[in-house]
Amino acid sequence: MTARREALQAAFDAATSWLDQLSTAPVRPSQDVDEVTAALWRELPDEGLDPRAVVDELVRAASPGLMGAPSGRFFGWVIGGTLPAALAADWLTSAWDQNAGLLASSPASAAVERVAGRWLLDLLGLPPEAGVGFTTGATMANVVCLAAARHAVLDRVGWDVEHDGLVGAPPVTVVVGAERHSSVELALRYLGLGTGRSVVVPADERGRLRLDALADTLAAAPSGPVIVVLQAGNVHSGDVDPVGDAADLAHGRGAWVHVDGAFGLWAAASPALRTLLPGLERADSWATDGHKTLNVPYDSGLAFVADAAALHAAMGEHADYLLQDERPDPMATVPEMSRRARGFAVWAALRSLGRQGVAELVDGLARHAAAFAAGLAAMPGVQVVNDVVFTQVCASFGSDERTRAVAAQVMADGTTWMTPSRWHGHPVLRISVSNWSTSDDDVARSLDAVARAVAAVDARGVA
Ligand SMILES: *Cc1c(COP(=O)(O)O)cnc(C)c1O
Repeated sequence: MTARREALQAAFDAATSWLDQLSTAPVRPSQDVDEVTAALWRELPDEGLDPRAVVDELVRAASPGLMGAPSGRFFGWVIGGTLPAALAADWLTSAWDQNAGLLASSPASAAVERVAGRWLLDLLGLPPEAGVGFTTGATMANVVCLAAARHAVLDRVGWDVEHDGLVGAPPVTVVVGAERHSSVELALRYLGLGTGRSVVVPADERGRLRLDALADTLAAAPSGPVIVVLQAGNVHSGDVDPVGDAADLAHGRGAWVHVDGAFGLWAAASPALRTLLPGLERADSWATDGHKTLNVPYDSGLAFVADAAALHAAMGEHADYLLQDERPDPMATVPEMSRRARGFAVWAALRSLGRQGVAELVDGLARHAAAFAAGLAAMPGVQVVNDVVFTQVCASFGSDERTRAVAAQVMADGTTWMTPSRWHGHPVLRISVSNWSTSDDDVARSLDAVARAVAAVDARGVA
């Protein structure tokens, strides 16, 4: 075998055996960052090592510090697993090593992104002529969409923000919901719109932006460009802002309406859950993730912009040396020039599931979340604090101290992985069901682990 084949074979063997043991192994890593560093640390060697031995050394050193994120019992943060077809396509993506920036540099990547992009717009019920950007994640998808928004609202008042920047520009009023994701703040920072200037619209008890308050905010906003940022999928409640009605209100005021739907946008792919998002298609741009609900490997985000010309104006650049096309190059949809051909894995995920499979995936996540809510509510002294409408469950275990102690104990136990958070002023244990492979048995074993954690905390006398 050649050295390359040996290295790839070693990687294949290590990857498949690691994935195979996830169904029985603890989800949590057995070593922390300092321990892994200590095992791996040495001065940069003068001499190299053959590829096969490099793979072996990496696997040996890294394995104890790996989180079982693709496990069916992983419910931390909002993190998806990896569909087999998407993982395989991702391996090919590395082997093929295409530069996805230009039509000329990879016709295959550009074509697959075109097809996957159209499929996604169809699946999510978004305008078929929208522009699509394959980003690293929803944070960058928010950046891309809000850059298109910034372009469009300033263009309408005769300001060329790409050429003249924001210094001296007409002020842009940005309206956000009280429970927006922190990545919206990052996007506003990166785009020079700032975080402190946003007008914040209060949320209701389910974490949704309040329409009446949005109407008041828009009525009181100074004349001039306005961008409204909505959310589909609150990371605590899973709930969705009233997107269609909010979009109509905002459009009455000439605003651009963006939806951060990192995981919640996928409710639109389920006939049963699409009722959470009436009027979703009436917004102007939408950000979501491939690496959460769709279960594509990292990194995979998606930006959709109804007015593709605004997207290209915000992201595109012409450079004579690049061999660019009359047609917009893929680099006119994302911040990067050179980048990974992310479309292959997204296409593979969609092709392997089909329309029905995506709906079943999304419905299955919501069904498991409902089972968690029912199981937790049946435990004495446990309260589910959100209306479980989608994939997110937040539980309180009585006092703040007891809730924190149970969350820490669940993570230490390692059977399952759920993360502590704070919502509406109190600590919660948050369960995000995002993995395609989670089974009823995974849910049952994870509920048992929570019950064990409660018993352990009570045995220590934490009240
Ligand atoms: C995860 C998430 C983001 C950020 O997505 P990344 O893929 O981590 O960049 C943005 N908004 C919401 C609602 C999220 O859940």
